[in-house]
Amino acid sequence: MKSPPRVIATKARFDKANRGACRSIRSVSCVRMRIAPTWLTRLPLADRFPPEHRSWLMSRISQKNTMPEMKVRKAAHALGFRFRLHRKDLPGKPDVVFPSRKAAIFVHGCFWHQHPGCRKASIPETRKDFWLAKLQRNVHRDVENVEALTTRGWKVLIVWECETRDTDILTGSLLRFLR
Ligand SMILES: [Zn+2]
Repeated sequence: MKSPPRVIATKARFDKANRGACRSIRSVSCVRMRIAPTWLTRLPLADRFPPEHRSWLMSRISQKNTMPEMKVRKAAHALGFRFRLHRKDLPGKPDVVFPSRKAAIFVHGCFWHQHPGCRKASIPETRKDFWLAKLQRNVHRDVENVEALTTRGWKVLIVWECETRDTDILTGSLLRFLR
């Protein structure tokens, strides 16, 4: 692997460094792997970039088709279940939807959706109020989406990013949920 650039100060540098390497940045870990020197990865993500580039960078981090989500899809597929993805007509556009079972799964990033008690859910020290407000909005929206779905007769499972590491455990919870 090519050694990453030492300074990431401008969008132009970022583009140059990533030209052709990564058509769209899909996850924080992708950003880390492609561009971040080690000293940079020790800072909280929010502190790694100058403020004027932060929102641009954050906007590039898609929360769709993430690695944890792919793992859930793969496990569900291996079990032989048929599913649809990100159904726009359902509250919160659940990530994986099993129409015949009226079952929906949200695959949540531990940080963005504030997994209770998870170490990945710690809030950056810099601009703490900003992050607190932003993340609380996410949590609020999540609760509302689950309520809206259950009111319509759907059953809902939240799979946390950190719960997708062990495929056997993941497969077990999918089976229990979809049985
Ligand atoms: Zn977690």
